[in-house]
Amino acid sequence: MQKKETKYIFVVGGVISGVGKGITSSSIGLILKNRGLNVTAVKIDAYINVDAGTMNPVEHGEVFVLSDGDETDQDMGNYERFMDLNLTRINYMTTGRVYKTVIERERNLEYKGKCVQVVPHVPMEVIERIKKAGQIAKADVVIVEIGGTVGEYENILFLEAARMMKLASPRDVFFVMVSYLPTPGNLGEMKTKPTQHAVRALNASGIQPDILLARGETSLDEKRKEKISIFCNMEAERVLSAPDVDSVYDIPLNFEKEKLSDKLCDLLDVVCKKPDLTAWEKWKKFAKHTHNGESAVKVAMIGKYFETGDFMLSDSYLSVIEAIKYSSYGENRKPIISWLNSTDYEKFPAKLRELRNYDGIIVPGGFGSRGVEGNLKVVEFARRNKIPYFGLCYGMQMMVIEYARNVLGLKDANTREVNPGSKNMVIDVMESQKEILKNNLYGGSMRLGAYKAILGEGTIARASYGVKEITERHRHRYEVNPSFIPDLEKAGLVFSGRSPDGNLMEIAELPKSQHPFFLGTQFHPEFLSRPLNPHPLFTAFIRACIKKKK
Ligand code: GLN
Repeated sequence: MQKKETKYIFVVGGVISGVGKGITSSSIGLILKNRGLNVTAVKIDAYINVDAGTMNPVEHGEVFVLSDGDETDQDMGNYERFMDLNLTRINYMTTGRVYKTVIERERNLEYKGKCVQVVPHVPMEVIERIKKAGQIAKADVVIVEIGGTVGEYENILFLEAARMMKLASPRDVFFVMVSYLPTPGNLGEMKTKPTQHAVRALNASGIQPDILLARGETSLDEKRKEKISIFCNMEAERVLSAPDVDSVYDIPLNFEKEKLSDKLCDLLDVVCKKPDLTAWEKWKKFAKHTHNGESAVKVAMIGKYFETGDFMLSDSYLSVIEAIKYSSYGENRKPIISWLNSTDYEKFPAKLRELRNYDGIIVPGGFGSRGVEGNLKVVEFARRNKIPYFGLCYGMQMMVIEYARNVLGLKDANTREVNPGSKNMVIDVMESQKEILKNNLYGGSMRLGAYKAILGEGTIARASYGVKEITERHRHRYEVNPSFIPDLEKAGLVFSGRSPDGNLMEIAELPKSQHPFFLGTQFHPEFLSRPLNPHPLFTAFIRACIKKKK
């Protein structure tokens, strides 16, 4: 039998960024998967950073950690969640990562004495990575999202790689452009001109879009569709409307209303199966929850990476927010998530009382000292008032510090990250991190990715997972200081999850008899929660929230 060629769909953006290329790519993956194709996805970010791990979340959004420990862009999380995949570092690249490889190769004489040039050697490295991602996944289709918008200086080499791929195999490489059509308030009319310019910018890179998804406040009408078709040199039926939606989980459904998977199967010239109706019904049912007026569960998220200028962003905690949603929908509840600033509780302690209005509190991951004292006050309030509390990574470390201060009476208990002078360093730097920090080797050097843990009999953790051994994704440098463990345990704190060698404390909790739900994880469970398969600890937390409400 003749071997089928892998197909590649490049997703590029026009006019402005932030119009949902990531969700578009994820949704295309989902609808093609539903047609029986094996899909994978690659994200390209044009920045020089080798990975997203060294960037401030306010600047970049969430750093999404893969099982192999790669610190990536939040879109990787969208791909994993929508397509229900587990991706690896080959699925993610940045300008920095590509150049680093090319330069290392040159130093190793791998170019055999040739002059190594920006073109073609850099695009060739990009192409090699894209193809390898396809081979590893044995993919029928590789979806490649190029971050940013066409016409940006930063993107040129990636578009050049795409053009070279198209030239080499015109029947295997295709382009979807996600463009924005503004409706200026003073005009009240949707304008196509910026999109026409964006298509021209793409044409200037030698690329013609095959499909154009017209993002906008409203649907694209026939008249504007025609205009785009004529001016952008595209068949009208390949110009699709993609209006704003309340829930991103409706997007694959909307795409199918426009028959996108049929159009793609046609364009790619691949044999697609009939849509898998059972899987589709499940997704539909899940997406419906986002609109239902079911009774609410109110969760307070105490964070610090929210503010950017005059705007508030929740992007820094995207996976946490999604994990809360999936578990809430699973329990037929509508989550109402409030983002509260940890530093507020330092300035206005009276605000703590307002926390009684929530069914549960989450302290997510974080770094550095800002907001830590506010977090500790919140943890104490949740513990004393028996409000369900879920601590993620830093949120677990806060739990341990709070317990040491207020139950063990170690008033200056702290983490070395905040106060290296403390006598009671209940959270300390991991042994393996000491050299790394001494030499300022910050990039990609935390304890990263998937590690196993063993759960203690008779604990909330064990009951929630229903198994003894788990694997979860990590991103940290500090740990519970082993020398304080016996005292903390004697005082009632239970370490219900430990590394297989027993040395690292992975989950801390209070017994149910003491508190309805007071649990923290050294890992980030949010990275493994999936729409149709919510994470068991988030579900246990949401159930505790629902109970408290009653
Ligand atoms: N800053 C803490 C550490 O490095 C927690 C990290 C996190 O929350 N991801 O251990």
